[in-house]
Amino acid sequence: MKQLIFLSLLFTLGCEPFMEEKKQITFETIDTDFSKGRLNHNQTHSLTDLEKFHGHLCDGLVVGALAIEQGMKMLYPDGPIDRTNLRIVSQPSPCSISLNEGVKPAEIDSLGSLATQQKLSACQIDELKLMEDDFTDFLLRSNPEKLFTVSEINDFVWNPNPKNDYLKSDILNKNAPDCK
Ligand SMILES: [Zn+2]
Repeated sequence: MKQLIFLSLLFTLGCEPFMEEKKQITFETIDTDFSKGRLNHNQTHSLTDLEKFHGHLCDGLVVGALAIEQGMKMLYPDGPIDRTNLRIVSQPSPCSISLNEGVKPAEIDSLGSLATQQKLSACQIDELKLMEDDFTDFLLRSNPEKLFTVSEINDFVWNPNPKNDYLKSDILNKNAPDCK
């Protein structure tokens, strides 16, 4: 592994013009062509592919995809992304990435906190989904180059400390009743 980067996510959403067209997120990658193969297997990955892997489309997934896109532009400016030479470090939450304070609509965080405590009514869960969908749409219509500050860490030491004690928040309300 040659390169590790740190993505410092500095949101400046309020300063950027809203784009008419929704952004299409795609990643061009190169891999080996089988388990002992050569580096010649090119693929294109879309946000839909990420959605299938993650399980659903959410604002956190889009923030993560946009952040990775900015980081990969620094690591592989001429493309494609060499996945044989890459490791990703992330926090454990399945649906969120740390943002600067005040960037994400505060109501999403307050309702999200109540959802994590399973204190939302059925209709409030639907309301939270609409708010997150609106924020997702906003992200995809914003200029991603203005959303993040990407910086390189020199002499980074890889020292993983894997744990399995996080709260998987996206399954807590899976049996909640429908809003009527
Ligand atoms: Zn999610």
